[in-house]
Amino acid sequence: MCAAFPDFRLGKVLATSFTGTLSERHGDAVERIPVPHRLADWLAVSGLAVDSCTPAQLDLARELREAIHAAATAAAIQDALPASAVQVVNDFSVRGRAAAILTPEGQRRWRLSSASSVEDALSVIAADAISVIAGERDGKLALCASPTCQAAFFDTSQSRTRKWCDMNTCGNRQKKARFHANQRSKPGSAE
Ligand SMILES: [Zn+2]
Repeated sequence: MCAAFPDFRLGKVLATSFTGTLSERHGDAVERIPVPHRLADWLAVSGLAVDSCTPAQLDLARELREAIHAAATAAAIQDALPASAVQVVNDFSVRGRAAAILTPEGQRRWRLSSASSVEDALSVIAADAISVIAGERDGKLALCASPTCQAAFFDTSQSRTRKWCDMNTCGNRQKKARFHANQRSKPGSAE
């Protein structure tokens, strides 16, 4: 049953992994959280496990996702942040009651209140987006060079010259496309 749903593309940055649950935004868009339980699955693998998720909560998640996408895209191209997107991100940030917990092993975990845990999880994602967009973290927002993707991603490479949101998907596809173009342009090539 699960095989019927598209896989997640998980990055190291919570906020941009979240916006990546809708990919190929400028091509044949792939919705990776098409049903509430896939949002719950995504939250679980992202360290924000919830008991359940309703269709209304999925709608909330998508509202936040698109606001983060709009704000992060503007930040990546050094455009003014869209006021409506900023408002949505802020609303979600203040709405949750998640608490950062330090484990005995010295790792951070999020504790969500059981009553509204999806909203709590979304507030953690909103706060993560704020720290990325505000430039508090070591890295730089950029847009994926794939024309059908153009996802905002957080470049933490030393040189800050990463071109693709994901090397295994967009990066690879671009390399293959170049390879095939080269093959075609070689006269008499058997391939
Ligand atoms: Zn991409």
